[in-house]
Amino acid sequence: MKVININLSYNSDFVSQVEEESGQKLNLCYQCGKCTAGCPYTAEYDISVSQIMRLTQTGQKDKVLQSKSLWLCATCESCTARCPNKIDVARIMDVLRHMARREGYTGIRTVKTFWDSFLNSVRSNGRVFEVGLLANYISHTGRFWTDIGLGPKILPKGKIHFKPVEMKGKKEVTKIFMRFKQESAK
Ligand code: SF4
Ligand code: SF4
Repeated sequence: MKVININLSYNSDFVSQVEEESGQKLNLCYQCGKCTAGCPYTAEYDISVSQIMRLTQTGQKDKVLQSKSLWLCATCESCTARCPNKIDVARIMDVLRHMARREGYTGIRTVKTFWDSFLNSVRSNGRVFEVGLLANYISHTGRFWTDIGLGPKILPKGKIHFKPVEMKGKKEVTKIFMRFKQESAK
């Protein structure tokens, strides 16, 4: 990673917002690196989780929100469990990902598209409808042949339905999405 002049790009509003939304104190992090050592995705991340913590602490909003790592994090909470200062690091990763999404940063477009397709499917059907999700994802990414090899293994097991399964509580699920939208607009 190239050297960043934190005096030039310090964004104090970003620091306050992350602290407020996560309920965590960023300045408790003293860069021991235990979170990164236990993170199963460290090898895949463009910025390790402890570096994300340091960049967030020093108000590097653009650098953090552009990171691909936010979209790869599996919310496994290993970082939270390992932090000697009891910082809920996974919560901070969540907050950063939501913030990136809200503000139009898309570290990995295909991951964001998958999430959007998943949420659209749950909102419309009350639960995920795999074939619909796949159609939505493929039409937005053009990845026609991704995981095609899994079809012959999954289909005989009868796990894939070609039309949405009607479920109780579908309206309630839709209401949750509506309530979230109203709350987010406040
Ligand atoms: S929650 Fe995310 S950042 Fe933390 S250890 Fe798991 S994958 Fe890594
Ligand atoms: S484990 Fe905690 S204190 Fe150590 S680098 Fe990660 S967030 Fe900072």
